[in-house]
Amino acid sequence: MGWGARWVFVSDQQPKPTDDGIQGLGSITHRYYEREKPKTGVVLLPGQKRHDTGEHPENRRRLPGVVDELRSMPEWDDLFVLAPREARREDILRAHSEGFYESIVDACSEAPTWLDTDTCVSAGSLGNCLLATGGVLSAVDAVAMEAYHRPDSLFTISRPPGHHTGKDKAMGFCLFNHVSIAAEYAKEIYGFDRVAILDWDVHHGNGTQEIHWEDPSVLFISLHQWPLYPGIGWVDEVGEGDGEGSTVNIPMPPGSGDPEYLQAIDEVAMPVIEAFDPQLLLVSAGQDGHAADPLSNQLISKSGFNAMASRVAAYARSKGIGLVVVHEGGYNVTTLPGIDRAILAGLGDFEAPLEDIYVPDPHQPPTEWPERLAEVIEAQKPHWDVPR
Ligand SMILES: [Zn+2]
Repeated sequence: MGWGARWVFVSDQQPKPTDDGIQGLGSITHRYYEREKPKTGVVLLPGQKRHDTGEHPENRRRLPGVVDELRSMPEWDDLFVLAPREARREDILRAHSEGFYESIVDACSEAPTWLDTDTCVSAGSLGNCLLATGGVLSAVDAVAMEAYHRPDSLFTISRPPGHHTGKDKAMGFCLFNHVSIAAEYAKEIYGFDRVAILDWDVHHGNGTQEIHWEDPSVLFISLHQWPLYPGIGWVDEVGEGDGEGSTVNIPMPPGSGDPEYLQAIDEVAMPVIEAFDPQLLLVSAGQDGHAADPLSNQLISKSGFNAMASRVAAYARSKGIGLVVVHEGGYNVTTLPGIDRAILAGLGDFEAPLEDIYVPDPHQPPTEWPERLAEVIEAQKPHWDVPR
């Protein structure tokens, strides 16, 4: 791919000075090499087998097929491939309580053990999870830095997911909440005061919502099947206090497919993100809304995931902000590699096989969808200038 590089002025991040008057890295006028093609890549997770959950849906067999698939792509050699660093204790404590962190350390020392009815740890889980979270922080560093080789976006190929974990409680296969920790890291280290998180995992990101519930500096938008685990995320959950309006819930009826998801993205999520004007965009990318996933009733295709990734990548690039796509759910090990490839292709604007035998043709929209979309928009009107 040709880079066709030239310096262009994109935006001024305008961070607050730190207490000692020294401006953070984010204060550097944000310029980057405009390229004909976006530069994307992956953060891999060495040693992911250390988090050994046995015959659990979230298991050690999820990622190897994904990595094999990505390595087989003709575009592999053009990717920005990054190794993660371990997250430090202070990184974790920006989003979680000290007691919670210690409880995970203790649980791993007594492993194997269960943290709740569906979340377990093995002896190597702590090391794996610190590396998984640290990989997201490495990705934030890479997309936020001023450098010729700065990638426009990065996709972390990691496990376990994180978006169900709140400040004090691990649940739903999740230990540390990667996107929340990354949002707080970006705020503190780069001086960003507006970070957006878009969550398209089929389950509601209740942990992320809880952590940023009263925080106007983090916009959280979730598209999730309703009803489904964990049972929250209705349209009227919009945040509280200073954070009122900075949580946006889009509960998708069972049977929703590409048209409904893309309509929700185009008519609600993107206009709100556009108005919020984030300095960094994080995506909680769960692929468990795919038509062949065993944990949901949604009908998203590879093409749909590709289109969602293209939407966020085009937006981030047009604003010159970094984009980090963080792997959350996705539990069919046969289909996950092709879906993740489709997402990466959307980020990098290259071709990928998008035919999908698992999606019914023609698609029947859920009957409650028009009314549901109207309810979502109605709930957002006091907070955002959404079209209609
Ligand atoms: Zn999920």
